[in-house]
Amino acid sequence: MAASSNSSLSGSSVSSVYQLQQEAPRPKRITCPQEMESRPKYYGREFHGIIPREYADELLAGAEGAYLIRESQRQPGTHTLALRFGHQTLNYRLFYDGKHFVGEKRFESVHDLVTDALITLYIETKAAEYIAKMTTNPIYEHLGYTSLLKDKMVHRLSQGRTEPRRVTFQRDERISSPLVRRSALKDTQEKQCSYEKIHNFKVHTFRGPHWCEYCANFMWGLIAQGVRCSDCGLNVHKQCSKLVPSDCQPDLRRIKKVFSCDLTTLVKAHNTTRPMVVDMCIQEIELRGMKSEGLYRVSGFSEHIEDVRLSFDRDGEKADISASAYADINIIAGALKLYLRDLPIPVITFDLYSKFIQAAKLPNAESRLEGIHESLLQLPPAHYETLRYLMAHLKRVTLFEKDNLMNSENLGIVFGPTLMQPPELNALTTLNDMRQQKLVVQLMIEHEDVLF
Ligand SMILES: [Zn+2]
Ligand SMILES: [Zn+2]
Repeated sequence: MAASSNSSLSGSSVSSVYQLQQEAPRPKRITCPQEMESRPKYYGREFHGIIPREYADELLAGAEGAYLIRESQRQPGTHTLALRFGHQTLNYRLFYDGKHFVGEKRFESVHDLVTDALITLYIETKAAEYIAKMTTNPIYEHLGYTSLLKDKMVHRLSQGRTEPRRVTFQRDERISSPLVRRSALKDTQEKQCSYEKIHNFKVHTFRGPHWCEYCANFMWGLIAQGVRCSDCGLNVHKQCSKLVPSDCQPDLRRIKKVFSCDLTTLVKAHNTTRPMVVDMCIQEIELRGMKSEGLYRVSGFSEHIEDVRLSFDRDGEKADISASAYADINIIAGALKLYLRDLPIPVITFDLYSKFIQAAKLPNAESRLEGIHESLLQLPPAHYETLRYLMAHLKRVTLFEKDNLMNSENLGIVFGPTLMQPPELNALTTLNDMRQQKLVVQLMIEHEDVLF
């Protein structure tokens, strides 16, 4: 979404903030007539050394935008930027740590800092009331987000998560051959992805004039004029970023990887219910690996697993993980485990980690399940759906225990630390929690039909 698309928006308000930036007073450096020995090397002749405040006032009088730097009389070694604006002298404590700053924004030069300060002061003085109001009538809906959002709202309302949903194929006796199962799995794939995702806003310096895609107003200032979502590229004022709904639709071009990418971000970018890695690996395993001895316990060659990762990162859903590419099913199982382990936020999120651990510690079997169920409902939808699908699959893996020798307990040992990681990595916590991690996964496999 190019910001220039907004520049055609008519309305005096839009152009006037831009106009104001053009009208803002320009910096006028007031230089010191003599060479100051105490001058730090990162200041120029605008540095006047220790001079009284009143004298600085006199030097600046009469010219809007005039500025100088003086050393504090009371605290030598600290510096003050004195700036003439609105017919008075404004004094700011000035800092330097490789860049110059008085507040959040950092500048290469004092001149840039003053330019930006004058723009901000001028606009905020002239248009204070206007700025306070500019978010009340956002143009955001005109950009096509709202219709998308409405669809989502309807979708969300009709899909209350409090009603446990079941995987339809799971108890179907007719589905016995892996081939039939595979097609059943495909049928249950929902194509539409309705999850909410917050934008990933980062302070951004725009080159050339830009307009806010939320309120349509000019983004003023010399640097750090606003924020940009690094997943979808939405550009807005910092103040507007707090009002933008959680409707980020990541741009595939901005999502560079599949592995190590945030789970919700990945499914939003690909418009799927679950990460395609999970679906594809599970389908492949159900097709040809369910009877493989030590499935998920026996590890595949790590180089080959790394190869699978690379091919997902490069080809996405077109990655070839068929038997002709990787004959050993343990490579696919290993890639799935690696994918889950490498998530920046684990499937069982850091936020909910201790809730799950606490639930597993409850002495009563029924309250343990209740505790896990409650925690599950608090997971972000994409995480919940991934876990639901994975647990249904692992349950089916245990049905082949006679051949693969895997039961819910040893799958719990394998997947516990893969799905759950404590928020703070601490060898002791990890060791103490291992039993509960295993138990949580084991219980989720055994009771997946009632828990999900
Ligand atoms: Zn976004
Ligand atoms: Zn805005």
